[in-house]
Amino acid sequence: MTDPGGGPAASSRGRRILLLVGPVGAGKGTQAAALSGELGLAHLASGNLFRQAVLDGSPLGEQARVYMERGDLVPDDMTIEMFMHELSKPAAARGAILDGFPRTVTQARALDATLARRGEQIERVISIEVPMEELVARVAGRRVCPECGTPYHVDSDPPKVAGRCDNDGTELQQRDDDRPEVVRARLEKQVRPMLEVLDYYDQKGMVQHVDGTQPIPAVTTEILEGLRDGW
Ligand code: ADP
Ligand code: ADP
Repeated sequence: MTDPGGGPAASSRGRRILLLVGPVGAGKGTQAAALSGELGLAHLASGNLFRQAVLDGSPLGEQARVYMERGDLVPDDMTIEMFMHELSKPAAARGAILDGFPRTVTQARALDATLARRGEQIERVISIEVPMEELVARVAGRRVCPECGTPYHVDSDPPKVAGRCDNDGTELQQRDDDRPEVVRARLEKQVRPMLEVLDYYDQKGMVQHVDGTQPIPAVTTEILEGLRDGW
């Protein structure tokens, strides 16, 4: 297909910016970890950044916590400001995989405008697609490293040593907002804005739709092949 919005040519004009879009539990964090290693790009995860701000007790964290505990999205202005700051840091100088941002069309427009001012653009939007019934079960079994943010699953993606992160040996934890009742609230509230974001980028012909129900390595392969060959 023609490539009106991004495509490999975009990377020669600036940093490589890839977006991962999908509902809670689709596998964004899992795939971002694999892809950032493979492609040498920073992994910027909005949820991890907010959780770190909460742990740090920063003013942003104090404000964000209230929304996160309810399973609501943090307001756009706070989210955009935090994320643009991260994107301007040296760690993202070579490019970045954006995981969990943008989640509303307002955020998507703000991101596009900021990149355009710098002569940059998004190369590809990768939509990881998983049916709703599977998401709650996935998230119920999710365990996360509080140190590096790597997600595991008790059945489908267990660590090498039970309960310990493969990267740093830290004891894995279950996130407070991964309780089934909060997950359902997050899914209900977040799916509509996510579909609007996908529609926004679909209209620009930028979205690679990926079957997220495949085993983890197969999802990674499909994404990498799509990046190499077009889709
Ligand atoms: P997200 O960042 O989109 O919320 P995660 O990457 O944290 O999702 O994945 C959610 C849970 O599902 C984790 O426990 C992860 O280990 C597991 N998971 C991720 N991808 C797959 C997959 N393709 N098949 C089965 N389980 C998966
Ligand atoms: P998930 O596993 O749901 O994909 P995340 O770890 O990405 O969850 O996000 C955790 C929480 O952080 C969300 O429930 C929401 O309150 C907040 N959050 C993350 N990204 C955004 C965003 N782009 N806009 C607004 N709020 C966000």
